[in-house]
Amino acid sequence: MHEKCGVVGVSLTDREAARPLYYSLYALQHRGQESAGIVTHDGFQQHEHVEMGLVGDAFDQNDLDALSGANGIGHVRYPTAGGVNTCCAQPFSVSFKSGSLGLAHNGNLVNMEEVRDELAGLGHAFTSDGDTEVIAHDLARNLLEEDLVRAVKSTMGRIHGSYSLTIMHDETVLGVRDPQGNRPLCIGELEDGYVLASESAAIDTLGGELIRDVRPGELIVLRPDGSGFDSYQLTDEPQTAHCFFEHVYFARPDSVIDEELVYEVRRDLGRELWEESGVETDVVMPVPDSGRSFASGYAEAAAEDGAETEFAEGLMKNRYVGRTFIMPTQDERERAVRLKLNPIKSTIEGRTVTLIDDSIVRGTTSTQLIELLRDAGAEEIHLRIGSPEIVAPCYLGIDMASRDELIAADKTTEEIRDEIGADSLSYLSIEAITNALGKDHENLCLGCVTSEYPYDVEGEQTDREVSRPVIDSASSADD
Ligand code: 5GP
Ligand code: MG
Repeated sequence: MHEKCGVVGVSLTDREAARPLYYSLYALQHRGQESAGIVTHDGFQQHEHVEMGLVGDAFDQNDLDALSGANGIGHVRYPTAGGVNTCCAQPFSVSFKSGSLGLAHNGNLVNMEEVRDELAGLGHAFTSDGDTEVIAHDLARNLLEEDLVRAVKSTMGRIHGSYSLTIMHDETVLGVRDPQGNRPLCIGELEDGYVLASESAAIDTLGGELIRDVRPGELIVLRPDGSGFDSYQLTDEPQTAHCFFEHVYFARPDSVIDEELVYEVRRDLGRELWEESGVETDVVMPVPDSGRSFASGYAEAAAEDGAETEFAEGLMKNRYVGRTFIMPTQDERERAVRLKLNPIKSTIEGRTVTLIDDSIVRGTTSTQLIELLRDAGAEEIHLRIGSPEIVAPCYLGIDMASRDELIAADKTTEEIRDEIGADSLSYLSIEAITNALGKDHENLCLGCVTSEYPYDVEGEQTDREVSRPVIDSASSADD
């Protein structure tokens, strides 16, 4: 499973939850475009609506009206490279002897098969091959014998890997973040209730205030009457494994993660990029939109150093074209880049250009853009990247291709420069990332840039001494 998703949960005093959930899913749409879903509870029964497609297409007025109740959760799911997978659209909802459950999951378990086999042996029947259903069954089983908090704690003792979850048990909404806090989750206050969301931008959208991040290993239980929440610190790991790529690419720049506005982190990374490998050209331009915050920091630092570089837009984005990763084949991806971006000739023709992007994955975007800029008359093209070389796959919830698709997996920077056709190419160092995030290697997941993971992935190195369950890389590698 490769789910880089968005999750949300709300409890309100005297208002239906469906619309606030719908708006927050809109705010989290960038985290997943494959499917969208909402589960609510009205005090008597659970209601659900889950559909393939974008949030705006997945719900109509009637769907929202039917989702009654002041408590609910929602989910947007990231498309897997392999295509559409209806079985795993979320929230996953089900009724057990111990009550109704809805689960929305962002992350990836590393010991899913093991827990699943064990539950299957105890008579649990599964309808999907997703890890969310495994969590639901384990929790339902624990709820037969334990109260809610203990049941969640027992489940957290069984499952390993990355998970930010919003859960509905009957009409109670919960939020859980895995012991190492790999994926983000935060809590906010509304005028008439509380909200849990993958990113604070969703809280802003509802006119609320971010309270704080949910802590690694913490369970938040929203009171169903919207009057407050209770916190339980269920695990206490010495190390965290925050995904640095959230700050580089995935999160919205207007979200606050770990008390830092993502936009400012990206600008700092851009400044570092100038410090490490700045080159004075006629113009500096971002690859929209992902390169923008980096380019603004880079250009600012360049100007402070007296560089005579104009900061300008050189590529226009067609906002109606989706993220190019949705396209499953390489041929489609290549065409999509041309569909998505068109040069502004006057900024480019006859000039030397620094082009700034957040990352290179397969190299498709950069290769195409460099060709585009040359056609538009650029004299020189210097590519600067706001993250280190991505050399290894992500096993923890980001759809990042398998190793053989990663251009940097087996090439030197010079070979990559040559392949994509740039006059020069520089990536940001890992140190710049740890500095900008104010965290050391030991508290970040840097697996995709170091090949060393905070979990034991079979066939991969781990950067932790603590022994962890083994993930079978064959079944989890994205391809
Ligand atoms: P490439 O064309 O090299 O395969 O991808 C690089 C571009 O994709 C960059 O502009 C970056 O913003 C974006 N990107 C980086 N990582 C991801 C990811 O995990 N998912 C999606 N959809 N896009 C990504
Ligand atoms: Mg991009």
